[in-house]
Amino acid sequence: MFKVLKFGGSSMADANQYCKVKEIVEAESSRRVVVVSAAGKRFPGDNKITDLLYLCYAHLQYGVCCDSIFEMIADRYIEIRDDLGLSLDIEAELAAIRKKMNDGITQDELVSRGEYLSARLLADFLGFKFVDATEWLTFRFDGEIDVEKSYRKLQNIPYESGIVIPGFYGIMPNANIKVMTRGGSDITGALAAAAFKADVYENWTDVSGVLMADPRIVENPKPIKHITYDELRELSYMGAQVLHEGTIFPVKQNNIPLNIRNTNDPKNPGTVIMKKCEDDPENDNFITGIAGRHDFHIISVTRHGLSAAVGALKKISEIFERHGVAIEYLPSAIDTIFFVMPTANIADKLYSVIGDIENEIKPDKIEVTDNISIIAVVGRKMAFKPGTSGRLFAALGQNNINIRMISQGPDERNIIVGIDNKDYEKTIQVLYNSFVK
Ligand code: ASP
Repeated sequence: MFKVLKFGGSSMADANQYCKVKEIVEAESSRRVVVVSAAGKRFPGDNKITDLLYLCYAHLQYGVCCDSIFEMIADRYIEIRDDLGLSLDIEAELAAIRKKMNDGITQDELVSRGEYLSARLLADFLGFKFVDATEWLTFRFDGEIDVEKSYRKLQNIPYESGIVIPGFYGIMPNANIKVMTRGGSDITGALAAAAFKADVYENWTDVSGVLMADPRIVENPKPIKHITYDELRELSYMGAQVLHEGTIFPVKQNNIPLNIRNTNDPKNPGTVIMKKCEDDPENDNFITGIAGRHDFHIISVTRHGLSAAVGALKKISEIFERHGVAIEYLPSAIDTIFFVMPTANIADKLYSVIGDIENEIKPDKIEVTDNISIIAVVGRKMAFKPGTSGRLFAALGQNNINIRMISQGPDERNIIVGIDNKDYEKTIQVLYNSFVK
């Protein structure tokens, strides 16, 4: 068994969190590779080190003194080192960064230093080898990660007990440091897991996995124990707070299970994300999760025989395309086709799109409905149970929720309903109570 672990900012926030990390790593000898974020918030209102580093750079750019901000960063790492009783010369590291800031440093290099310092300290604390991301995580000139080259380089680095790697950054062909998008350490961890063909990629954070519904709407929603990558994609597309798409691809491609765990509750098994989930007899939840998004527009185009007319859909789609508007859902009736898209994407083009449809399609009627929310009920087991949609619509009907749109593909991985924005919270609550509770 071989595991790659990634610890997020809240797990690296102070010495107390480092101790929890150490306990987790040492609990299993298979936990050999550890990827870390920069120190995050210790309490609400606290600063993330990465934010402070971005702020430092903004000051440098405008020639404004950033000493007090840099001192906050320095103090945090010195305090962690001292509280852990380590002897790493963090002052020398900080002085080198400060000097580079005076001589001219790129934004990417400066903001990468949070992860760098976290990893140096944790490597010392665990007695693992520090392996800089610049030794292996390579970008191409076009800014994309050179995945195969990065894997090869990491596989060839010798080590004994284990290694600690800073997340979030890598190296360009011209030897400059480049950072990923925010939250990128998740991707570093996934790449390391794929390079080592790990049995599992554990992503340690401050929540015990993915929840079945938004906790701001449903009180104490159940955590999802097992979920497929496809279901996760549906839920995250619909707004559930889960991992970034980029995180998933290296582990998904290599069929490595991704386990989201809580550093503050290490006994909790969290959520396991896999390509295919076996049926779990303890958990016979019929759906995997519920998620939704506010503010959609539905444009209904009606003309006698429209759905059956050859090429009509293409013509209307081309009008949307010309205006740069992507259509997200496309339910239809005999004489009407419904075009559904986020309000933000259509609002300022609405009248020109409608004008073009009127001129080119000559419809009998065009109707625009706004303030629509789209809610997806996602689950792999729905496909095998007749009557799922019926149960769902009955639950909404009994609770006086007016369904404005329905969309369901033949794979039955999700059922999508459009409802009025005002019914958003109620719909999620009703669906959760009917299918999960
Ligand atoms: N520290 C970086 C951020 O705040 C990267 C990460 O934590 O994954 O976005």
